[in-house]
Amino acid sequence: MTTKELDRQYIAPTYARFPIEIVSGKGSLMTDDAGKEYIDMGTGIAVNTFGLADEAWIAAVTEQLDQFQHTSNLYYTAPCAQLAQMLCERTGMKKVFFGNSGAEANECAIKAARKYAQDKKGAEYYNIITLKNSFHGRTITTLAATGQDVFHQKFTPLTPGFLYADPADPESLDKLVEENNVAAIMFEAVQGEGGVLPLPEDFVKTMKRVAAEHDLLLIADEVQIGNGRSGALYGYMNLGLDPDIVTTAKGLGGGLPLGVCLLGEKAENVLGSGDHGSTFGGNPVACAGAISILSRLTEETLAGVRARSERIFSALEGAPGVKSVTGMGLMIGIETEKPAGEIVATCREAGVLVLTAKQKLRLLPALNIPEELLDRALSVIRAACAV
Ligand SMILES: *Cc1c(COP(=O)(O)O)cnc(C)c1O
Repeated sequence: MTTKELDRQYIAPTYARFPIEIVSGKGSLMTDDAGKEYIDMGTGIAVNTFGLADEAWIAAVTEQLDQFQHTSNLYYTAPCAQLAQMLCERTGMKKVFFGNSGAEANECAIKAARKYAQDKKGAEYYNIITLKNSFHGRTITTLAATGQDVFHQKFTPLTPGFLYADPADPESLDKLVEENNVAAIMFEAVQGEGGVLPLPEDFVKTMKRVAAEHDLLLIADEVQIGNGRSGALYGYMNLGLDPDIVTTAKGLGGGLPLGVCLLGEKAENVLGSGDHGSTFGGNPVACAGAISILSRLTEETLAGVRARSERIFSALEGAPGVKSVTGMGLMIGIETEKPAGEIVATCREAGVLVLTAKQKLRLLPALNIPEELLDRALSVIRAACAV
């Protein structure tokens, strides 16, 4: 049987895959089983930060693999301790909890926020406000945190204690906080799955004020926009926010499963011994790879992200068939006149792999995509958008 046949017969049909089998890749190029080459504008959904088969990352990972692959959290190991130090020094956060995915990072943030509020204000302060149109993961609790009804319907009852504010209506936040006992507000600096929508400035302002007035923790979900993609190390840094808890995953591991929950001063000690855990959390191989990624997220890399971002905006804004371009850094959404699915197929035929988010096209290229490849991809996308 071919890979496609095996997949269809034996894998739970939760994914609508594109009709290509990837067999190899290098940098921002991927090759399918027929030998056709594609420019990768999706990086495995913001995961392959410096592209496929990234040599520095491979070297870091294989060096650790040659030592040992896993020990459990019963012992000290250097890679996770060193990665935690780097993350804290670069964000000003105080402590790190390691998991394996974005959802798991958010679960930790939710537990920490509830425990903080319970210790400080009482057990009834369990509510967490998230935003309409947000996406926070696929577990029952992070689905509840996700502010989109379509994700909720088939899996009720979800974890109670989530309320949804409308980012287009900052007053909705004031109202929710006044009418409920709230522990925290959780936000994405740019809503990814929700359609690549940056958080409106007036909402950011209100969020800051409301959090200060009511002693609410601010939780930044940086799973997709984090780790250099925004043009800053983390997306919230572009918004002048100072969150109490930061979660990230996707691009930090650079291709191995890794999720982190960074705890700031207020929450650094709320989770104590036995309060939380994860067998694979802080896996030395994943952490060694992440150290290689994080150490290359230098000011020079971030300037490169911003320059590439401008290149994309100027190529696509006002282009024929393009209604709007939104986003931040190298997380970009394109609203088109033609259906996005049609454009994705046209681009694929022409050797460019792009993603969608809701009704939009979504671009998440490698932070180091060569300009020549980026320009080639942009001209294909422009042609595909033109009516
Ligand atoms: C992808 C994503 C998640 C979930 O991450 P997983 O690793 O798939 O569990 C959570 N939040 C945001 C903003 C995401 O983009």
